[in-house]
Amino acid sequence: MEQTLSIIKPDAVKKGVIGKIVDRFESNGLRIAAMKKVQLDASKAGDFYAVHKDRPFYGELVEFMTSGPVVILVLEGEDAMAKNRDLMGATNPKEAAKGTIRADFADSIDANAVHGSDSLENAANEIKFFFSKEEVI
Ligand code: GDP
Repeated sequence: MEQTLSIIKPDAVKKGVIGKIVDRFESNGLRIAAMKKVQLDASKAGDFYAVHKDRPFYGELVEFMTSGPVVILVLEGEDAMAKNRDLMGATNPKEAAKGTIRADFADSIDANAVHGSDSLENAANEIKFFFSKEEVI
């Protein structure tokens, strides 16, 4: 059993598609081990995306991630990390495969509906970044 972190980003929360995205996870064998809706501040979003701090889009990314509430989830299941990445689709929704979350719900490369951990090591660190042990069930 693996665990991975997902974030339903502000664009998808504003569109009212939290339930539709959670359904993609549950319908594809990913169990919700934790879930909370939060408003990130610039410090928390900046720290979360620190790996991108030298990229030209870092400022825009932090601004976008703090533009409204997000829903943060821990997904659990067999091959959860890779399965979630498959369900998400490519970073740029224009390149995302048909039927993926980003193809169906995202508008642009910055407002791209969801985040998903891209390795098991990152997943463990990202889960710890947002959740205490008691919150992951
Ligand atoms: P992901 O793992 O598919 O989310 O993609 P990355 O780790 O490469 O990038 C992290 C996030 O940064 C993406 O989900 C986008 O929200 C954002 N991002 C990536 N590339 C760009 C870009 O060229 N412009 C902007 N504005 N945002 C970007």
